[in-house]
Amino acid sequence: MGLNEILSKPGQMLGDMAQVSTLDAVVNWGKSYSLWPYPFATACCGIEFMGTACSDNDIARFGAERPSFSPRQSDMILVLGTVTYKMAPVLREIYDQLCEPKYVISVGACASSGGMFDTYGVVQGVDRFLPVDIYVPGCPPRPEAIMDALIKLQQKVQTQGLEARRQEVMRKIDEINEKNRPVIVR
Ligand code: SF4
Repeated sequence: MGLNEILSKPGQMLGDMAQVSTLDAVVNWGKSYSLWPYPFATACCGIEFMGTACSDNDIARFGAERPSFSPRQSDMILVLGTVTYKMAPVLREIYDQLCEPKYVISVGACASSGGMFDTYGVVQGVDRFLPVDIYVPGCPPRPEAIMDALIKLQQKVQTQGLEARRQEVMRKIDEINEKNRPVIVR
């Protein structure tokens, strides 16, 4: 195999001793193992996240054990629990303050769809105002499900370039704006 052919396939082994990669692949690999979460916990799913972070499950294996309560030092926001219309602008402001590229995991039935709270005060899914990357099903979701979401997000960070990421977020925000367009009745 020629050198050009090897360089066109990042991750290709060169014998037993060396591996060829691109700078992007190395940087993305590093980013995927240092995703700092901002836990936006409003209800019982927050307790599941605490269980996920504890030693039995040990989220540190994935480099995500450092919860940050400053959005400016976070890479991803985990929405854990019911979100009311009163909270939604606060959550959106927190999301806006996260560093780019930023990611959203919607954990549990309440965050993803309002869950059992089909009432006038509860947002029926945070994807009505946030570009969600991963949905975690369950009420409550098991810690394994939260870790599965984290692994899926790591795979996404490793394979998605910055421009593709920007375009995905812009597309989702356009969809949100379209859904939230006020209906004018004449
Ligand atoms: S999905 Fe279930 S466990 Fe999670 S916040 Fe809602 S009611 Fe609680």
